[in-house]
Amino acid sequence: MKATLIDGNALAQTVRNEVAARVRVLAAEGVQTGLAVVLVGDNPASAVYVRNKVKDCQEVGIHSILDRLPADTTEAALLARIAELNADPTIHGILVQLPLPAHIDEHRVIEAIAPSKDADGFHVSNVGLLMTGKPLFRPCTPYGVMKMLEHAGTVLDGAHAVVIGRSNIVGKPQALMLLAAGATVTICHSRTRNLAEHCLRADVIVAAVGKVGLVTAEMVKPGATVIDVGMNRNAQGKLCGDVDFEGVSQVAGAITPVPGGVGPMTRAMLLVNTIEAAERRARAPR
Ligand code: NAD
Repeated sequence: MKATLIDGNALAQTVRNEVAARVRVLAAEGVQTGLAVVLVGDNPASAVYVRNKVKDCQEVGIHSILDRLPADTTEAALLARIAELNADPTIHGILVQLPLPAHIDEHRVIEAIAPSKDADGFHVSNVGLLMTGKPLFRPCTPYGVMKMLEHAGTVLDGAHAVVIGRSNIVGKPQALMLLAAGATVTICHSRTRNLAEHCLRADVIVAAVGKVGLVTAEMVKPGATVIDVGMNRNAQGKLCGDVDFEGVSQVAGAITPVPGGVGPMTRAMLLVNTIEAAERRARAPR
């Protein structure tokens, strides 16, 4: 392997240690940082995600509430619960685990979260702030990717970055963050012709698609930084990303693994968003 490995587990631990220190500073001022996680239904993958989020909170000293609501919870009942959490002064961040059951309008639910507590950064108000260069909450996955690039010393100013994927939670906010950091950004997606041609010109590639082996060595410029957001299972049932790690790591300058790359950083950045929210509230003029 030629590329430098960007170790998401190690960096996430550093981030959690930093968050824990900030939580202690606020605690010394009498403020207990709080996050509410709301899970509707019994999607097994979602149940694992929320359990991990609660565990991460415990590690860094953030007080967390886990609301497990039954799958047949009505939209009105969920909105009422969110209104309570919006008004609860002990809660600084609110996260509603997606996907929601089909009878609930996800958009309406996200828009019901107070923008000042929107720890996932999905509310249109936070999307707009990111778009206009004044971010409040940044979506956790692309925020984590930016931390990884910073840690790896990847120069973004003037670089050409290719983001593969245009979702609201990864691709689009990722492109905006890279743009704000001075990169020239190309967004590729399912309708893009000649993906390989775009990728070959990139100094940085962020793959966020959900397709095993999409990015191969022939698509990567020697020395480029390759970030793999994808989370897939291969034919053997093993967790893997969108990047052919074996091949690409022979060409790239730096690369993230799956598992142990973007995943742990996504979790860590939720804690960062939560402590940032608590600090903003604590420091706000009264
Ligand atoms: P999504 O399904 O909403 O979006 C996928 C995007 O890929 C779409 O914009 C689509 O246009 C594009 N696409 C599909 N086929 C393509 C192709 N052949 N070439 C180029 N683009 C193509 O998915 P998402 O929510 O953005 O997630 C993307 C991947 O990242 C998934 O594997 C998901 O599990 C993973 N993910 C990981 C984390 C993490 O913490 N590691 C967080 C979020 C998502």
